[in-house]
Amino acid sequence: MFPIDQYHRASSVEHACSLLAEYPGRKLIAGGTDVLIRLREGKSGFSSLIDIHDLDELTWINHTADGTLQIGSGVTFTQLINYLKNDSLLPALVEGSSSIGGPQVRNMATLGGNICNGATSADSAAPLLAFNARITLKSQSGTREVPVEDFYAGPGKVHLEPDEIVTTFSINQEDHQNTGSHFYKYAMRKAMDIATIGCAAVCRIEENRIQSLRLAYTVAAPVPTRCHVLEEQVNGQPVSGKLIRDIAAMVLEELSPRNSWRASKDFREHIIRTLADRVVTEAIIRAGGQL
Ligand SMILES: Cc1cc2nc3c(=O)[nH]c(=O)nc-3n(C[C@H](O)[C@H](O)[C@H](O)COP(=O)(O)OP(=O)(O)OC[C@H]3O[C@@H](n4cnc5c(N)ncnc54)[C@H](O)[C@@H]3O)c2cc1C
Repeated sequence: MFPIDQYHRASSVEHACSLLAEYPGRKLIAGGTDVLIRLREGKSGFSSLIDIHDLDELTWINHTADGTLQIGSGVTFTQLINYLKNDSLLPALVEGSSSIGGPQVRNMATLGGNICNGATSADSAAPLLAFNARITLKSQSGTREVPVEDFYAGPGKVHLEPDEIVTTFSINQEDHQNTGSHFYKYAMRKAMDIATIGCAAVCRIEENRIQSLRLAYTVAAPVPTRCHVLEEQVNGQPVSGKLIRDIAAMVLEELSPRNSWRASKDFREHIIRTLADRVVTEAIIRAGGQL
């Protein structure tokens, strides 16, 4: 039995917003794979719930007229993987989503819940950052949109107001079309484990030069992090083994991994450099580059 004090079932996004306005401090529950664990552990703030699981308005994926890919926050990872694989879209996001938990978890866990819990280890975060994804939030006072990167506020924290609900993730066509992408999660076990380090790269190649590279990490800093300085430096460079070695040598400048019981800082730094090499190489090859 879960120690639930108050429970409201929202019938729409508008209803969820009005419940949040009426009962400040209540917790949204989508798939419940994080919330129910916290609730069972007796963490404060998790016993009064507003349930948004399976709302039609949050469980669709579509393309707008200008080609923007929109993903409802309540889409489960199983739904997301099936949709993207079917259309051969965003391989790095498929790889990130496929590395989450096991099939039962992916059947329940939602994209919105994975980002809103604020974990630096969220496996969808690095791909979303590397695809320049934006997040749409709604409340009774209106709608706002922010890059997913700017949504993170600190360890376990996001810029979500108590009366807000995340409705959609959007990725512009130019941020994913004609790109090569790859995600790799390094963890101690091959399945059902939290990332020691996660890394995603999205690149576009023209005449065997980097036209654009976006590189993002999880667990390499207090929040999922893009390597913007590195990206600027490699844009326009010819693809070569030296370029990959330079990327692996530069990558730590923007990251600050820490010691934890899972892994030491030194070991994480080693994995970060190794993944910079492997993940960027694979993304370049998938984009048609030749090394
Ligand atoms: C056995 C197990 C294995 C796991 N393995 C992994 C793993 O390998 N990788 C990984 O990244 N995660 C893993 N997780 C964590 C979890 O499954 C994911 O973070 C999942 O995506 C959370 O989604 P959810 O829908 O279940 O979120 P919920 O538990 O419903 O909610 C999580 C948080 O997000 C908030 N929230 C949810 N939806 C919204 C919304 N639309 N708007 C605003 N706030 C919202 C909730 O209020 C809550 O704070 C694992 C969990 C379990 C139990």
